[in-house]
Parts: sequence; structure tokens; C-alpha cells
Amino acid sequence: MTAAAQARPPALRTLVARARRSMPARVARRAFRVATKPVLGTITHVETTAPVAALTFDDGPDPDSTPALLDLLERHGAKATFFLLGRHAQRYPDLVSRMVWAGHAVANHTFDHPRLPSLPRRERLAQIRACETAIGPHASKLFRPPRGLQSAASRLDALSLGYRVVTWNVALWDWDQHTPEWFADRLASEVRPGSIVLMHDLLYEADDPDARDRGPVFAGLDMFLTRTGSRLSFVTVPDLLTRGKPHKAGWFVPTDADWAFHDPR
Ligand SMILES: [Zn+2]
Repeated sequence: MTAAAQARPPALRTLVARARRSMPARVARRAFRVATKPVLGTITHVETTAPVAALTFDDGPDPDSTPALLDLLERHGAKATFFLLGRHAQRYPDLVSRMVWAGHAVANHTFDHPRLPSLPRRERLAQIRACETAIGPHASKLFRPPRGLQSAASRLDALSLGYRVVTWNVALWDWDQHTPEWFADRLASEVRPGSIVLMHDLLYEADDPDARDRGPVFAGLDMFLTRTGSRLSFVTVPDLLTRGKPHKAGWFVPTDADWAFHDPR
């Protein structure tokens, strides 16, 4: 291999990275997001002054953590939305039924949590359909892409299957280890009327295995709900969407590396 050939791959990668960060590319991305927002927009929260917000939990159900969470929500009179994985819903249908009976919403988070933008279209559609089948007839037509990764093509797939895509405007960062007080403080400082909050009753993929324990997360949520009292009511996402104007963002994050460029407006 010549020196020039050896040099080519890193040089090309650098050029692509520079092009993506360049002003014209950023302007073009922004123009695309704005132009496609009415059809391809992703709901991040609801514009409202009503004292309501939505707690959402991804990746479950899980027999070790979900029952304690359902007990906690019941104690506080809070309703939540569970973005379920089809493979877990299929395995634990009684937990899905318990969620529905308790008045929570259940929604689609694919069958087994792939990075959708990197899959062929046929497999993306199969993932969403398999989850829909596993959850059963009580599921809301709401979809959340795993890891928040979404391309224009994968967004179109959700649309073609009749789904509204819902992400979040508050993430609890519960994939990292923190104390209950830290989680409670973060919720208290970030949650506002209309917020959609991202949490997990199970971490399907944990970069830090010690962060899998839901004990500190749920203890923090318990503290937050106790402190908040009646100042905010927690309702399902389908309910929240009727309480104000759903805010749509151009949410295109095709790979994990694209989080660096993500601007959810
Ligand atoms: Zn997930």
C-alpha cells in the first residue's frame, strides 16, 4: 500500500466530519428540520400552563423492578407511560395487563431495541410490528425509537404504520449511577408543566452495569413526588397531548455520534 493510500481513510473521515460541522451543512440540516416538521416532527413535550406533566419509562416490563414502580406510582396517584420492548411484553404479559388496569399507557419501543437507522426498512417495520403484536390491543399508537436514534427514513416508517413519535425534553440520566437525592433534585429542577420525562424501569443496554439497579432511581422519584405533592399532576402521554399544544421538533439523530450535533428545536 502506498503512503497516499494509507492516508486516504483518515483524511476522508476528517473531511466528512468537517463538512458536517460546517456552516452550510448546519444551515441545510436546520432547513430540512423546519420544512419537514409538520409531517416528520417528533413530539418532545406539550406547550401548556396547566400543572400536568408526563413520566415515561422505557425498556420494560421487568419482573424485578416494574412491580415496585407500579406500587410507587399508585401510592402517589401518578399515571405514567411505558414504552415497552416487545420481547419483554411477550414474556411478562401479566405486567402489561397490570399497567393497563392501573390506568397507565403502554406504547411501542420496538421488539428488541436495535439502532433503527442502521437497519434495512423491512427490518425496521418488522421491529415495530412485532412489538405491537406483543403489547396487544391496549397499546397507544405512540412510538419511541431506541436510544432516541432516528433518521428521516425511520421516522417515515413510524408514520407509515400510523404512529406518532414521542421522545422527551427532560432526561433523568438514569443510565448513570447517582444517589436518590441527586435524582430527586434533577427532577425538581427540570420538570415543568408539559414536560415529558425519560426514565427507565429497566436498562436494556447499560454501559455501566452497576447503574442497572433501579433502587436509587425509584427512591429519588419517590422523594420528588412527595416533595411535589399536588403542585403537578402526572398523567399519561396520550392524556398530556390533549392538555395543550404538542411541541414538535426536528429530531434526527441517525447514529450515537450524531448526539453531538443534535438540536431538538
Ligand atoms: Zn430504550
